Amino acid sequence: MPKVTIDSNACKGCGLCVSVCPKKILRMSEEKMNKKGMHYAEMTDEEKCIGCAFCAMMCPDCVIRVER
Ligand code: SF4
Ligand code: SF4
Repeated sequence: MPKVTIDSNACKGCGLCVSVCPKKILRMSEEKMNKKGMHYAEMTDEEKCIGCAFCAMMCPDCVIRVER
């Protein structure tokens, strides 16, 4: 299974990764905020990840790492 690592505290909350995930398994945290005071991207269902790495490619700040 691919492993997706999100550096929550580096996330600026732009939501681009959420918009490109073909499996719709990324979302922005609702109540929780990171050290920047931003809602951050989080994984909802790791088992459905296909390891396409679209999320990692889209992230402007290289916050997401995908290992296949
Ligand atoms: S690797 Fe692909 S399927 Fe997995 S979370 Fe990222 S965009 Fe979604
Ligand atoms: S694309 Fe990067 S900075 Fe934007 S919400 Fe996703 S992880 Fe955060």
